[in-house]
Parts: sequence; structure tokens; C-alpha cells
Amino acid sequence: LSHDGQYLGDLTFRRALRFDEGELAQLETLLSCLLFPLRNALLYREAVLSALRDPLTQTGNRIAMNQALQREVDIAKRSSQPLSVLMVDIDHFKRINDNYGHSVGDEALREVAGVLKASLRNIDMVFRYGGEEFALILPGTTLAASRNLIARLKDAIAAIAYKLDGDSTIHITASIGVASNDENTTHFPDPLDMIKAADSALYAAKHAGRNQIIEWNSL
Ligand code: GH3
Ligand code: MG
Ligand code: MG
Repeated sequence: LSHDGQYLGDLTFRRALRFDEGELAQLETLLSCLLFPLRNALLYREAVLSALRDPLTQTGNRIAMNQALQREVDIAKRSSQPLSVLMVDIDHFKRINDNYGHSVGDEALREVAGVLKASLRNIDMVFRYGGEEFALILPGTTLAASRNLIARLKDAIAAIAYKLDGDSTIHITASIGVASNDENTTHFPDPLDMIKAADSALYAAKHAGRNQIIEWNSL
């Protein structure tokens, strides 16, 4: 099956008796009816997928994050597994835009998203929560286990020195808030509470001078 040169898939009809000409013609007619709905279904699927992604950073968007967090909180509860959520916000990002322009700001966002994705295990998830803020979901990860990973993230972000034309180099830091569901910390049965907790830890990290990590349960 193809439409406008685009391959849509294969359909095979089998039976013991040979199809006669009339039947083959009927099949052709039926298939031509299938073509448009099938193409529309494939386009729909593509649209749904792109509705869940942030085009600039190629991370999940807020809708995808809400779905994933609800799912992961449920799974963690059912299987008594830990779960950690991080909020990562780039420090003084507005200055990058103001000093170098919006397109350099965009490039810096892509760099940070790339570093976050590269530093995580493949079961971890990165979402663009807002402008220069990312939310990370770490399934199966206790607060204690998240510390190594966060330290690595922080170093990787600090190692981004985005080169501009000429001599100018932009150094980037981020503040990070952490909330975890595990046996040692308070449980968040509602995914939104977990986000709120990570967000208040992030807020505290900003107030403590930025470029640092704060755990919600230490607030
Ligand atoms: P803080 O350390 O307190 O987080 O300071 P900040 O400057 O990072 O935070 P603030 O919230 O004041 O500014 C965030 C800036 O991020 C402002 C906004 O214009 C910029 N921003 C948001 N989305 C985008 C984007 O997609 N591209 C670019 N270039 N800038 C963006
Ligand atoms: Mg910021
Ligand atoms: Mg922000």
C-alpha cells in the first residue's frame, strides 16, 4: 500500500482457493477505501507524538511529563520501588539572552538538554518543564542513589562552555531541586505534590546563591 509515493504497509490475503478476477477487483476496491483512513491514522499518530515533544530541545513537553509522572508514581507505589524527581533551572539565563541574543539562548538550551540526556540512564526521562527549566524523572532511584547522578549532571552542565564567534565563551550553571519517594523520605502519593516539592527545593537552591543542589527533605 502506498500513497503519493509514501509506503504505508503491506496486506496479504491468503486462502486455499485461487482468487478469481472478480474477487481481486473487489479486493482492489476495498483497499483503495482503506488507503485514506490508513494514511490519516498514521498522520494522526505522528501528530500525537510531536504534540508530546518540545521542538527546540527534543525533550518531552509538559503534557508528556504529566502523563509520565502519573504513570511512574503509580508503578513505584504498586511495586514498592523508589522514585526521584529533579527540577533543573539554568541560572541567570535571561542574561545570556540579553547579552548574546535569543538565538544563542536557544543554542544554550539545546546544549543543556543534550547534556542532561547524555548523563542519564536510558530509563530516566527528561522534560522541558518551562522556558529554561527541565524536570527529570528517575524511576527506581532513591534519594541517596540520586546524589551521584545529580553531582554528575551538575559537573556536565558546568562543563558546557558554549563558544560564540570570536573569543567569548558562555559558562552555564544550574540550580537543582530534588524530591524522592523512598523508605527514608516522606511519600508523595500525588505526582503534583512531588513536582511542588522539587520546585520548592529548587527555589531554595536559587535563594542559597544558585549553582547548587537542595533536597526537599532538608528544607
Ligand atoms: P534565575 O537564576 O533566577 O533562574 O534567573 P533566570 O534569568 O534564569 O530566570 P528568569 O525566569 O528571570 O528568566 C528566564 C529567561 O528564559 C527569560 C526568558 O526570556 C528566557 N527563555 C524562556 N524560554 C526561552 C527560549 O525558548 N529561548 C530563549 N532564548 N530564551 C528563553
Ligand atoms: Mg533560570
Ligand atoms: Mg526558570
